[in-house]
Amino acid sequence: MRAELLKKELGIFTFQDLLHYFPFRYIDRSKFLKVSEVRSDSAYVQLKGKIFGLKTFGKHRATRLTGFLRDETGDIELVWFKGLKWVMQKIKPGEEYVVFGKPSYFNGKYNFVHPEIELASETQKGVNATLQPFYSSTEKLKSKGLDSRGIAKLTKNLVDQIDHTIPETLSEEIITPLKFISREKALINIHHPENQYILDKAIARLKFEELFFIQLALLKQKFTRAEKVRGHTFTTVGKHFNEFYYHHLPFELTGAQKRVIKEIRADMGHGKQMNRLLQGDVGSGKTLVALMCMLIAIDNGYQTCLMAPTEILAQQHYKTISKFLGDMQIEISLLTGSTKTSERKIIHKSLKEGTMNIIIGTHALIEETVQFKNLGFVVIDEQHRFGVAQRARLWKKNKIPPHVLVMTATPIPRTLAMTVYGDLDVSVIDELPPGRKPVKTFHFYDSKRSQLFHFMKQKIAEGRQVYVVYPLINESETLDLKDLMDGYESISRAFPLPDYAISIVHGQMKPEAKEYEMQRFVKGETQIMVATTVIEVGVDVPNASVMVIENAERFGLSQLHQLRGRVGRGADQSYCILMTGFKLTGEARIRIETMVRTNNGFEIAEVDMKIRGPGDMHGTQQSGVLDLQLADIIRDEKILKFARNLAAEILQDDPLLQNPKNSTLAARLRQLQKHKYDWSRIS
Ligand code: ADP
Ligand code: MG
Repeated sequence: MRAELLKKELGIFTFQDLLHYFPFRYIDRSKFLKVSEVRSDSAYVQLKGKIFGLKTFGKHRATRLTGFLRDETGDIELVWFKGLKWVMQKIKPGEEYVVFGKPSYFNGKYNFVHPEIELASETQKGVNATLQPFYSSTEKLKSKGLDSRGIAKLTKNLVDQIDHTIPETLSEEIITPLKFISREKALINIHHPENQYILDKAIARLKFEELFFIQLALLKQKFTRAEKVRGHTFTTVGKHFNEFYYHHLPFELTGAQKRVIKEIRADMGHGKQMNRLLQGDVGSGKTLVALMCMLIAIDNGYQTCLMAPTEILAQQHYKTISKFLGDMQIEISLLTGSTKTSERKIIHKSLKEGTMNIIIGTHALIEETVQFKNLGFVVIDEQHRFGVAQRARLWKKNKIPPHVLVMTATPIPRTLAMTVYGDLDVSVIDELPPGRKPVKTFHFYDSKRSQLFHFMKQKIAEGRQVYVVYPLINESETLDLKDLMDGYESISRAFPLPDYAISIVHGQMKPEAKEYEMQRFVKGETQIMVATTVIEVGVDVPNASVMVIENAERFGLSQLHQLRGRVGRGADQSYCILMTGFKLTGEARIRIETMVRTNNGFEIAEVDMKIRGPGDMHGTQQSGVLDLQLADIIRDEKILKFARNLAAEILQDDPLLQNPKNSTLAARLRQLQKHKYDWSRIS
């Protein structure tokens, strides 16, 4: 019965599972506070004294029970709303009790609601050693006696039976110099620690182990793939590349773009399959880099594709790339869910026959029916939105797998990249095209709206254009639309025709209407673009130099950063104005302050990860980061880097882990990969 519940509620099926169900906190039960010392409601505390003055309240039935705990420094109130009878039976006058709980502050006083109570004479027995473990439980489990304490009893029984029965998972070569305690000792002590020192050692060892095996798996995959997986060898930089470079490239490449293209070219030239991550801030010119690498592939007789996560993005890439190519002899098409059947057939045919050079699209690209004659190079934009299986299908579209370049639009903190993309090589574009002035960012409260309008008028008078963006939150599209329409009206009043013209774009418009409004803005026929976040991606209007973000407190950091990236593309000084109400949560304030302080996407990503935790970040869903039980890639950055370096060192000597001294590691890795993680990633 309880076993059933443990399975259902916590996924604990076996003793092994239970052994790996770690406490989330420990309370030092050797320390007692005096009543007069209770000063904060932030932590669990323990008091000792006599209980008196039990009294019930309630009209027909007792619904509340109160009493007092008294020690030599004073009284503190205890309150129960449930299990009143049981508490009344249990408490005997005159006896000394230990009361344990989190104080709450109510009506100017501290009290304890539903404290744990125990006879002082009992507390030293059983699981109540000094550091008491706390396990998370569920309502259902609690009702069957499996609260934290109940689970502690189970784990206590379990660890008491352990006697040289837990196999070691790390090799002597690691354990000895690093002075790790054994796995067995670590597992026993993480549940029922003898003291703080051993607990720290147990946690350190288990955290290291957790991060180490992920890195070992990722790096081993990377090394063996480099050994085993043959790749197309692109030997020439030929006609198309040169024609583009000398006759079509509208500007000088930045140093970073040149360096990255060289890195990619070298990687595609040595006979191994490339798996590379291209990182670069918004506006750093990733699309162009991707295109030039595609041209190299085409020059070597291969087809290429670019896959984007949304239809809008795919369309945007298609337009940008077609425009770059101009009248060059390159066959390029767009394939998405909304491509007409007749057109789709033609595209399928030309892909299969090999006459199509570049295909740009969405998920539609990975359907069975899409077959290539000779796919050699794949660009995946914002890969985190694609599942592993989907990417694997692209991989299989040629006998020899194509080279893969993954582009991320949002910078990723280093530690996260190490884990999420730990098996990829990385290229970074760390330079913006010249002549760009960093966008100046300001925070305005709504009360400054007239100043905002004044500023907008000034910029428009100078010939610039302005975006005004409203948040779009799926919960209530109609409400969002109302915000937008209200805003549009007030802007229309402040910026009347015929002096001003305004575009409006939102998600509920027909695509043609949207396109029409966008084009009016692109052509400069309208000075203001009022929009929801549909413009977050894709729009490129260098003359627009002001980005006003309404209700900025409702946007996440990476979204704010993406939006700001829409301006600052021309030579003029650009501005981003964050509008908010007066009331801001602590987190919203940090987001706004960060945006005002820095333009650096990597720095913003770090802050974002610190506020939200890695679990909410892009890419973590498939990465195993979420499965981390103890380690935290932010707090444990040092351990992570250390574990990665050590894993790399070991694999450098022994890429397949065949050396007998690494047999323990190899065995553990096999076991983990079989049971726990799906690390079969392709890129
Ligand atoms: P990303 O995709 O990295 O956000 P884009 O590829 O959209 O950036 O490039 C942003 C803008 O900068 C585009 O208008 C692009 O044409 C332009 N651009 C790219 N490379 C350069 C360069 N070397 N010099 C000037 N402008 C560039
Ligand atoms: Mg882009």
